[in-house]
Parts: sequence; structure tokens; C-alpha cells
Amino acid sequence: MSHPKVVLDSLGAAARKSLSQNFLISPHWADKLVRASLETPAEAIWEIGPGLGALTRGLLMSAKVPVTVFEFDRKLSEHLRVSFPGIHLVEGDVLKQDLASHQAGKRVSVLSNLPYHLSSAILFKLAELPSPPVSLVLTFQREFAARVRAFPRTPDYGALSVLLQLQFEIESLGVLPPGAFYPAPDIDSEALRFVPKPAALPPELRLLVKTAFEQRRKQLPSNLKKKFPGIQVAEILQKLGFSPLARAEELAPADFVALGREMGLFIA
Ligand code: SAM
Repeated sequence: MSHPKVVLDSLGAAARKSLSQNFLISPHWADKLVRASLETPAEAIWEIGPGLGALTRGLLMSAKVPVTVFEFDRKLSEHLRVSFPGIHLVEGDVLKQDLASHQAGKRVSVLSNLPYHLSSAILFKLAELPSPPVSLVLTFQREFAARVRAFPRTPDYGALSVLLQLQFEIESLGVLPPGAFYPAPDIDSEALRFVPKPAALPPELRLLVKTAFEQRRKQLPSNLKKKFPGIQVAEILQKLGFSPLARAEELAPADFVALGREMGLFIA
């Protein structure tokens, strides 16, 4: 495959920072990510932000199921249609797509070197689908990946860590150095694989966790009292073996499930 700079020049384009365009130039990583995304059996594969096709090429060659790609950039979309005739390409902002109707009840596997500025929004849009993907192989800025995998009582730990760790088994596929991309980003990237756990997350649990971390320096009872009035959070915390003045960062993901159950928010 030609170097992205050569292809972009031929299109009269340049890498767009506003779209987090850092194109993968490492054949090793392209191959590794494509193979990882094909390991979980699925009925359809989605790639978000195919760019110049560094991952798309391998996917289209090896996938035995339909591949759909979602690309915002018009020039890159035109280039993809020429490079991969017949490709099923959805042009536009992936965040504005009705992904459930694209999914049409199928078991979907998702692959993406994510546009970094939209990592959280895209990840939650996928995780909150009525039937979440059977596998997500996603590349993030390394700091973001650290937040996803963080442990309680660490500065990186937050609602993102709790909700994703409750919903998915999460595995690191390794660290990609800046030189794996053109243009090279300032920092390392990390690829993670997410495989959903069997039980779905009740919406009340999502609300509880997001509210608990809204002001992370505040104690839980005061953080929760507005959205969950009349519930004796301090007493419940004590019953669960915590200080009545505990902060959200002290509770492990499973503790939030116990807290929500004791608060009567759900039965699970
Ligand atoms: N997959 C390519 C690769 O690995 O070389 C490109 C990855 S680049 C980090 C992110 C890609 O996401 C770019 O192609 C960019 O145009 C696209 N993108 C940015 N925002 C998007 C959005 N809201 N919806 C869909 N694609 C988007």
C-alpha cells in the first residue's frame, strides 16, 4: 500500500487534525488488529473510520461475513469506493447513525483505529446498543486506555472504568508507538479488545455510576442525594462494609452493583 502522504497528495488532501486523522502505516499492526477482530465469530463486521483503508484491505480479504465501513470524510469516502469497488460504505458522522437499524439484530464485531477525540462517545454508543457487539477491537490514546482499565483508588479510575469493566472482559492487545501512524501522534496508542459479559447493565446502574462520579472529591451520600432522594446511602454503605462517607473511587465495579441493589434500583 502506498504511503498515506502520497495518497493524500494525489487526492489534493492532507491529514485533518479535526477528524483525528492519523493513518496506520505499520503492516504488523494492521495484520494483528484485523486478525484479532476476526477471532470472534460474528455475522457482520463494522469498521469505524476506515480512512485510507489500512485495516479495510485486510478485513475485506479475510472476512467471511459482510463488512460495513463508516467514514465521515467525503474525499476519503470517494477514494475508498474507488479502491474497494462494491464496498458497503456509510458516509457521515457515525455518532449520528442509527446503529441499531444497521445492525438489524445481527451479531456484529467492530474494528477501529478510533478518531481519538470521539473515543468515549463512540465507545458508549456501541456499548449501549440494545444488543452490544460480540467483539470490539479498538485503538485509543494510551491515556484513555489506562482510564478504561483503571483500578479503584487510582486517579484514572472513574465512571468510564466502572461501566466498561462491568459490561466487558477487557484485554490489551499491546502498545502502538507514534511511528506506527502518519502523521505520528504525540503519544503512544493502545489497542484493546472488549468481549461482552453475559448480563446486560440495567440503565439505573449506568445512572448511579455516572452520578456517583459527577463530583469525584465529594462523598457518595451527598453526590447521590439529588438524583436518588430519600435513600439512606450512608447506611447502605456501612452495611456493605464501607465508611458512610466513602467516595465513588473507593468502590470496585462489583460494589456499585451491590450498592444499586441495596438502594432498590434493580433486582439483579
Ligand atoms: N482506519 C484508518 C487507519 O487506521 O489508518 C484511519 C484511522 S484515523 C485514526 C480515524 C478515522 O476516523 C479517519 O479516517 C477519520 O476521517 C474518521 N472519522 C473521524 N470522525 C469520524 C466520525 N464522526 N464518523 C466516522 N468517521 C470519522
